[in-house]
Amino acid sequence: MKLSNSYIGLPEEFYQLINPTPVESPTMLAFNEELANSLNLELEDKEKLEIFSGNKVPKNSTPIALNYSGHQFGNFVHELGDGRAVLLGEILGKNGNYDLQLKGSGQTQFSRQGDGRSALGPVIREYILSEAMHSLNIPTTRALAAISTGEYVARDSFEPGGILTRVASSHIRVGTFEYFASRQQWENVKLLADFSIQRHYPEIRETKNHYLELLKRVASNQSILLSKWMSVGFVHGVMNTDNFTISGETIDYGPCAFLDEYHPGKVFSSIDQNGRYAFGNQPSIASWNLASLAGCLIAFINKDSDKANELATEVLDNFSTETNQRILDLMCKKIGIDGAVKENQDLLRQLLKIMMDNESDFTITFRSLADLLEDKSDNFDKQFKDKTAISEWLDNWKNILSRDERNFSKISEEMKLINPVCIPRNHQIQKTIESAYNNDFSKMQEMIEVVRKPFDENKKYTSYTEAPTEAQKVLKTFCGT
Ligand code: AMP
Ligand code: MG
Repeated sequence: MKLSNSYIGLPEEFYQLINPTPVESPTMLAFNEELANSLNLELEDKEKLEIFSGNKVPKNSTPIALNYSGHQFGNFVHELGDGRAVLLGEILGKNGNYDLQLKGSGQTQFSRQGDGRSALGPVIREYILSEAMHSLNIPTTRALAAISTGEYVARDSFEPGGILTRVASSHIRVGTFEYFASRQQWENVKLLADFSIQRHYPEIRETKNHYLELLKRVASNQSILLSKWMSVGFVHGVMNTDNFTISGETIDYGPCAFLDEYHPGKVFSSIDQNGRYAFGNQPSIASWNLASLAGCLIAFINKDSDKANELATEVLDNFSTETNQRILDLMCKKIGIDGAVKENQDLLRQLLKIMMDNESDFTITFRSLADLLEDKSDNFDKQFKDKTAISEWLDNWKNILSRDERNFSKISEEMKLINPVCIPRNHQIQKTIESAYNNDFSKMQEMIEVVRKPFDENKKYTSYTEAPTEAQKVLKTFCGT
């Protein structure tokens, strides 16, 4: 395994040199062969286990914990950093350079009161969710390995420990910029911006105002990301600036979940008391996070602060407009119509309102609309207690569709390519974690396989496509890290 580490070329304030802390008796629970292959990674089983448990530092690796700050629920926290993770290095894969990070690998100078470890539950959750997101074509960090450490961690009760190997196109966050900006270390902000450009957006090096361009690129990638989240009903749960990447990948699967019934105000996280990170708030929170990044870069955007503000504000305004339009486009596409047309946008809004009033399942409703066009949906009807509003809506919808040059069967086929049958539902993840805690890992393996094919109708695993019953619903998701 060939590792490099460009991050250690940055000044020492950027990180701590620290090795992972070995664990007692590691077991490999899941290893992502497809990802390993794309990273050109060839390791014997024994070596995999030793390296990804942190028991052996690979040759040419210089493990580091990264420094960052961040706004958590709107409040600035001066010092966060990798308190339970180390970056082993970068690996050159078939699609570029990727960070290889162990999460749950022991204490670092950033651990504060924490033990530097992770419980196995969150490791399993992140593995399944990130694999599902990747399969839904949503930019995300990925999981290479999930390991059980053979040790216990003290949370509300004692839980088995785990380590996740995370693969990311980088671990640079808005919070990394905030760390140096809040300390007025402008030279370091500049170094980080240059490093980010080199790593993620090398094509902008030659532009006239490349710090403004950097802000634009991050905004653009985050806009794509947010619209995709919204189109599958994903609630991140902790969109703090330290969980908001410069690359535009989804990072940190904590108390996140996919919607069952549709409601824009839906919150899962037990720590999100005021609903700051509710489903429907996510685009405006992304804008808030980008404003934090803009604040860090502002001095480099223009020497004249009024001009710099004007330029940055324009980026943020564009972000909001573009993201809204992207969401409309994707959501309209889910029902086979063009989101650029005002009449279609209204039709979509009416549907969402009816879904909200009826507590309709987000995923099932959209998917079964595609079935309905082929006259084979039993599921659709069940999503609506009040049949009047939806049947009127269906008439309008079919009316609009009948003007399309595609026939219903073609529209249905195209809708099925973007409306998943299977999302990793919270109650199924919970069950999977419970089984794992009882030493049964078969459900975990099964669920990983199922979420990898989100658009396929799979007769064998229908339980994964069903909405939870009232009793099965997971009402709150705890960070549990
Ligand atoms: P997160 O909730 O994953 O975004 O983490 C927020 C901050 O808390 C980061 O600085 C983490 O490194 C730190 N942290 C979370 N869990 C632990 C832990 N068990 N030990 C040490 N630091 C932790
Ligand atoms: Mg985090």
